[in-house]
Amino acid sequence: MTEMRRLIEILNAASKAYYCGGQYIMSDKKFDLLYDKLKRLERTTGIVLPDSPTQKVGYEVKSNLIKVKHERRSLSLEKTKEKNDMVKWLGKHQGVLSWKCDGLTVILTYDNGKLIKAATRGNGNLGEDITHNALHFEGVLRNINDNRHIVIRGEAVITYDSFRKINGSLPAEKKYRNPRGMASGSVRLLDSQKSAKYQIRFIPFDLANALDLGIERVSESLKFISNLGMKPVEWSIVDAENVVDAIQIRENAVGNLPYPTDGLVIVYDDLRLCNAVGETSKYPKYAKAFKWQDVSKTTVLRKIEWSVAKSGILSPVAVFDPVGIDGTTIKRASVHNISSMKNLKLGIGDHIKVYKANMIIPQIEEDLEKRDNVQIPTVCPECGMKLIKKIGRNNRTEFLYCINDQCPAKGEKRNESITQSEKEGVQN
Ligand SMILES: [Zn+2]
Repeated sequence: MTEMRRLIEILNAASKAYYCGGQYIMSDKKFDLLYDKLKRLERTTGIVLPDSPTQKVGYEVKSNLIKVKHERRSLSLEKTKEKNDMVKWLGKHQGVLSWKCDGLTVILTYDNGKLIKAATRGNGNLGEDITHNALHFEGVLRNINDNRHIVIRGEAVITYDSFRKINGSLPAEKKYRNPRGMASGSVRLLDSQKSAKYQIRFIPFDLANALDLGIERVSESLKFISNLGMKPVEWSIVDAENVVDAIQIRENAVGNLPYPTDGLVIVYDDLRLCNAVGETSKYPKYAKAFKWQDVSKTTVLRKIEWSVAKSGILSPVAVFDPVGIDGTTIKRASVHNISSMKNLKLGIGDHIKVYKANMIIPQIEEDLEKRDNVQIPTVCPECGMKLIKKIGRNNRTEFLYCINDQCPAKGEKRNESITQSEKEGVQN
């Protein structure tokens, strides 16, 4: 029971950081591992506590944005990492395969040719009104040439380019760990002018009320979205015969996308069939997500470099023997902050497992020896002044900080496009 309690608390905290743009707690891989452990524990004991993450869809809505009840539930998808699961599941049916973009799901409602509402998915039933921000997303139309009631779901994402540029202008303790965290945070800002600076892109993936509009196939509904003048997610028709190859082709192409994906989605093309198979309390039965199988490789950690940001915060960067994963060679990975370094118990000379998050960003999964011998510097590598430790404002994350105002690392011209105060209200 105490183990169960512990798992629930860790997972809920990590999930809040994941969905609400908070600070990094653990890798997605570690999350999946602990989540499965909790699920096993619940199965064997028959006890499921009410706040267990296994009982929730997405994040809880906690902000000053106006709450919006969705006209139909917006569920998350059941995930698999096995291509062959898709063959079995498709059976004799045709499916529509598309990218699973990694951002925040947003639902647009049009009436009389006008965008009247944009809301986040929230917990699936209740989302947040973000109409004021959605008007500034690239790819969202204010007006469409169709007067009917139209509900379009899509993903609000941030490209890797924007992510790098914007993160570069944020102080270290405010930086986002990945584009998804930045998308969640900026989509949900109260001030639309601030939100607009994040260059959020909207990628439609579903016409939620297609059948009401007389459309009977998912493929047709995506064409309908194109005809309205929006650019839906890249999609193709698949069947049991070609689905494995089709997934492979996407896996090979994922590195060329400008924004992150965490896998693929396959949905039955026939909307009447989708209706007939229905959904469980948590997942629709007519669609499945294929998650990227993170390939991890073992290598040797050689050193930790400390880079000093303009804000004075030092970030550890792991340097390891070059290792090839999915066609590219990686040799460095950010370890984010001292807390995550301590959690990993990194040791110089240790064997470490590394992988690419979203098949792109190098991350350390674990240290196999956990010798925990990295020396935390006491003086700034840039100016030689004594360093201090700081605790992040709203959590226990530890940072190393150079307080010298004359430190050369602080001297460079700062990018003022997004200032610290503008980020306030984003992190919970
Ligand atoms: Zn310094």
